[in-house]
Amino acid sequence: MAVGTIKEEFQKYKGFIFDLDGTIYLGDKLIPGAAAVVETLRREGRRVVFLSNKPLDRRETYARKLTKLGIVTPPQDVINSAYVLAQLLAKETPGARVYVTGEPPLLAELAENGLQVLTSAQALAGPVDAVIAAFDRTLNYEKLDTAFQALKKGARFLATNADRTCPVDGGELPDAAGVIAFLEATTGRKLEFVAGKPNALMLQVACERLGADPAECLMTGDRLETDMRMGIEAGMDTAAVLSGVSTREEAEDYRRKMGGRGPTHILRSVAEIVHVES
Ligand SMILES: [Mg+2]
Repeated sequence: MAVGTIKEEFQKYKGFIFDLDGTIYLGDKLIPGAAAVVETLRREGRRVVFLSNKPLDRRETYARKLTKLGIVTPPQDVINSAYVLAQLLAKETPGARVYVTGEPPLLAELAENGLQVLTSAQALAGPVDAVIAAFDRTLNYEKLDTAFQALKKGARFLATNADRTCPVDGGELPDAAGVIAFLEATTGRKLEFVAGKPNALMLQVACERLGADPAECLMTGDRLETDMRMGIEAGMDTAAVLSGVSTREEAEDYRRKMGGRGPTHILRSVAEIVHVES
C-alpha cells in the first residue's frame, strides 16, 4: 500500500478521531486514500479511533468492515453510541434495570456491561430505572407502550442517538428521533440525555482510548452539526471533509456561524491529511 508522510499542519496532533460514513467510507466503498492516511498516521506513531452514531451494529462489526476494506482495526478502536451509553450507565448506575426500544446488538452491549435488559413483561411488572430510545427497525406498539408506562412511573429517559434519519443506499430511513418524539409527545417528558453525537461525551470516551487530551486531538467528519459541533465543544481542532454530506460553502458558512472556532481545516477528503508519493 502507498504510505506517505503527514502534512505539516497535521503533525501536531497525537490522536486522530474519524467519523466513518462519509469520511472513511461511503456505504461499502472506501474513500480513495483513506487506507493510506490511516496507515501513515499509525506508522508515524499517531493513535486513531473511529466513531459511529449508529447503535445497530457491534463494534466488532465495524472493525470487521474496516479490516475488510483494507484498514486493519481492532474492535476497541471503534466507538459507537451504544458503547458510550453502556459505559456511562455501567459507571453511574451499575446493574440498572433498563427497558430499550432497540435492536439485539444494543441489548447485547448493555447486557455485557452488567445492565439488566428487561423484556416488556418484566418492565411492566417491576421497577425500571431507565428507558433507552434508539434506532429500532423492530419497533411496535407494545414497545412504545412499555416505554411509555415506565416513563410515566418516573424512569430516566435516555437515548443512544437523536438522528432524524439514517442514510442508506438510495435514500434514508426514519431513525431514533421519531421514537424520542413519540415518547415526548405522549408522556409530556423531555429526553434527558443523548449518548451519541453531538454529545461531547463520545469524544471523552475517544480521548480515553487515545490516551490524549482533547487539545492534542483532531476530530474529522463530514457532518457540521454533529461531527464539527461535538469537536468544537470538546475543545478539539476539527477537520470538515467534503466527501460526505457537506459542501465547501456550507463548511465555510458554519465556520462563520461558529465565530471562527471551527472547522479548523476544510478538506476535500481525508486523503489531504498526508502526502503520498506516487
Ligand atoms: Mg458521517
